[in-house]
This record gives sequence, structure tokens and C-alpha cells, in this order.
Amino acid sequence: MIRTLLFLIIRRTISGQGTEGARHRFYNVGRIFPCGKEPWEALLIEKNNTRPQDVNLSVVDLYTIGIGPSSSHTVGPMRAGYRFCLELDARNLLTKIRSVIVDLYGSLALTGKGHATDTAVLMGLTGERPRSVDPDKIAPTIAAIDADHQLRLYGAHPVSFNRATNLVFHMTESLPEHPNGMRITAFDGDGVVLHKQEYFSVGGGFIVSGDDRGAEYSGDNITLPYPFSSADELMAICKKAKLSIAEIMVENEKSWREPSETEEFVDRVHRAMMDCIERGYKADGILPGGLNVKRRARKLYLELTERPEAGLKDPLTVIDWVNLYALAVNEENAAGARVVTAPTNGAAGVIPAVLRYYERFGANVTQTKIREFLLTAAAIGSIYKKRASISAAEVGCQGEVGVACSMAAGALCAVMGGTPEQVENAAEIGMEHNLGLTCDPIGGLVQVPCIERNTMGAVKAINAARLAMRGDGQHTVSLDKVIETMRQTGADMQSKYKETSQGGLAVNVNVVEC
Ligand code: SF4
Repeated sequence: MIRTLLFLIIRRTISGQGTEGARHRFYNVGRIFPCGKEPWEALLIEKNNTRPQDVNLSVVDLYTIGIGPSSSHTVGPMRAGYRFCLELDARNLLTKIRSVIVDLYGSLALTGKGHATDTAVLMGLTGERPRSVDPDKIAPTIAAIDADHQLRLYGAHPVSFNRATNLVFHMTESLPEHPNGMRITAFDGDGVVLHKQEYFSVGGGFIVSGDDRGAEYSGDNITLPYPFSSADELMAICKKAKLSIAEIMVENEKSWREPSETEEFVDRVHRAMMDCIERGYKADGILPGGLNVKRRARKLYLELTERPEAGLKDPLTVIDWVNLYALAVNEENAAGARVVTAPTNGAAGVIPAVLRYYERFGANVTQTKIREFLLTAAAIGSIYKKRASISAAEVGCQGEVGVACSMAAGALCAVMGGTPEQVENAAEIGMEHNLGLTCDPIGGLVQVPCIERNTMGAVKAINAARLAMRGDGQHTVSLDKVIETMRQTGADMQSKYKETSQGGLAVNVNVVEC
């Protein structure tokens, strides 16, 4: 079927983390859909004739302080609901709206209940945003909506809303543009449509809407001193400028904001990651959703701290600690608590676990090195975002845990003293051994295999960094080649393995057995 011409924009409102309330910027990617291509494949490809690699990405695009359990299915839909409120407000429609209908399609419908997409979009419609919403307020707010059949649009304007009829899961339909599609429609008292918008959650909390077509994106106005769209380009820049990857990032980030603001943002991300680990290993009980998955982090923490001498007999106890860090974060994520999207929520435990490992077991740890870690990881993640995808609905779990593993591996290698070539090698190893990883969460919940999978991703990242440090940076498979292989593998992957819970563990494991 011949695809029609379509322009889409990625509009990313930088949330102000680190620059609280200071600015809003927009990332918009427009694109022409060539004949025969899946439209959603095109979302990150071209702006007119500009390749997506030319889009400027900042460190703030790789880390978002938000809530669990999913960046694409929770953070993105909440942003969509909030953005719909802004659109109504901009059109002076808020006081005229009497009811709203939300339609969820594709993966958002199939795994939306398990990923809390329904509650997320309702919270967004009440004016909440992922970065500031109080996770403890979500359940009572949803209970009030269900009891009153009424929702306070943008936090103030009551409209009729019955979840049974106004929130529709289209389980057998997808919008053609992307597997994570949704539509929100607002009506007046006579049932006349006053505003309607489609949104696509394209991974990592990014939201695209059809309304964005034709707009400029913020990257148009930004000139980076060291632009790079591939690992090869990044390596060449490092060599020529005699700078590390993190130093390249620092220089580029100056195009967006003052260096102190970038540092503040990175430090805030670091604190949020560590807070999440600490909350996670103090919490106990059963995770929500019906799978009856028990939290394990607290028990492991108590075992490790009550008998510390055991670690003297078993040097591999360090792996238990890494597992603990990842379990803690992903259990918090599964519980819908505050986490850092890094680069997605399903994979949110890998980078904090490896960073914590470095802090507790590494040498010469300073705040500067911690920033170096997070900036290096962001540089690597930005290449995946430009050249492939970080959305499991597009490329499976290789785009989530695989990318997080690659980012963490490169970052750890950097703070261990690796050269840019060794860092690139570590990042490549981190992805090479995640190629083909499918997304098949049982019950549509980000719990099994997701929580354990983060422990595997973290341990694999540490091993990748160590392997790279034992080499000289020379290797057969380049990071760019492995990213392209990941993209192609994702394109070939059947949709049942791409965040639909229609294949793999999701169909072979009886939920009752869990
Ligand atoms: S299987 Fe992987 S990609 Fe899928 S929900 Fe779990 S962590 Fe995310």
C-alpha cells in the first residue's frame, strides 16, 4: 500500500530538571514516509531530507526523572494527557469541555493495563506530569474518578468520565503510524467534538503528535561544537580534539545551557538513581498487578549486610550486590514509584546498578567521575536513539535492556580509565550479546522477565567493560555495525515479541503459576 505523505514532529518539552521552570524547548522531527515503509519506522528517520542522525540530542533527553513502570506506556501517555490539556488551554476550550474519550491502540492497548497506561493518561488529563506527580496520589485520584465518574481536566475543570465507556482498549487495532498509538477526543455538552489529537509514544517517554507537522525542532537552532551521529564520528572527534567522550558531551551541552546547570541536572539524576536503590531495598511485600511477584531486594540486602564476612569467603559476592541494586530499582519501577528513565523504565535498573557498583567497588570515585559516567552513557544512548530505537515496541528488549547495558558498559569503561576506543568497544560488547532479545512481559507487567533481566544487563555491562579494558580498543565489530544489526533484527522481529505480550514467556507461562 502506498503510504501518504506525512510529517511528524517529536516535540520534547524539556522538563526543567536541573533548570527548574527555566525553559521549555522542543525537539521536532518531521519526515516523509517512503512507499512501502512502515510509517512508525519513519518517526526517527528524516526531517524533510534531513536524516535523524542530524537531530541534536542532549543529556536531558536520555534521563528523565519520572514514575514506573514504563517510559513508553506510563511516562509517555501521562505526558500525552497533560499535553492534551495544554492544547485545550491554548484553544480556550477547557471550560467548554463536558466529556473526554481516550482510545488506546496497539501495544498501548495490549499491555496498557499491566503498564498502567490507563491510570497514567488519566493522571495526565488531570494536569499531572511524570516528573512532579506524587506516586502516592495516583491510586486515590483514580479511585475518585471511578467513584464520581468525573475527572478534573487540567486539575480544575470537571468533565464526565466513566472508565468503562470513556477509556477504550482497542486490542486488535493499531494506528498505522506507530504501535504505541492513542487518541484523545474532547466533547462539549451536545456531544460535538471540540478537539481531537493522536499521540504516539515512541520510546523513552518521547511523545509525537500529528499536530506537530511542519514545525521547526529545537535542534534547528542549536549548533553543537562537536556534532556526532555515529560512534565512528564520535571516535574521530575524540581523536582530533584530544577530548574524552564525556568532555565532548560537556562542550556540546554548553550550546543548551550553562555548564553549572548541566552539572546540576546530572547530579540530580544521580541522586534520584541512588534514592531509588535505597528505597527499593527497604521496601517489602508483593508487587502490584496480580502476578504475586515478591520483592527480593530487601531480603538480599539483609542477607548481605547481616553476614558481611561471607563476602570474604566468596569474592563473587560483588555480583550479589550488583543484583541487589538492579532488583531494588526495578521493583520500585514495577510498583509505580519514582525512577529515572535511563534510557527507558523497563531497563531503569541497569545504569544505576553499574554506577552504584562503581561507587562502592571502584577506585578514585569522585562526583566528577560520576558525572563522567552519566555523560558517557548519554553519548552512547544518543547514538542508539538517532540510528535505531530505544522502543521495545519497535525493536524488542534489545532496545531497552540491551541499550542500557551498552550505555553502562561504555560508561564504566570510561571511569575505569578506558580510552574512547575502549569505551566504544565496551559499548559494542554490551549490545552484541543482547542482539535478538525479545520483549515478552508476562501479564503485560514490567516484572517478569524485566526485573531479573536488569540484573543480567548490569552484570553483563560490567563484564563488557572489563573485557574492553583488557584489550587495546581494536576489535572486529564496530559499535555502529552492532547498532545497525540491532535495528535490522528489530525490524525482522515478529510483533508478538515487541511489547504486545502475545508471544514468548507471556504466552508460555501461566499467570496463575506465578
Ligand atoms: S521484556 Fe524488556 S523491553 Fe519488555 S517490558 Fe520487560 S524490560 Fe521492557
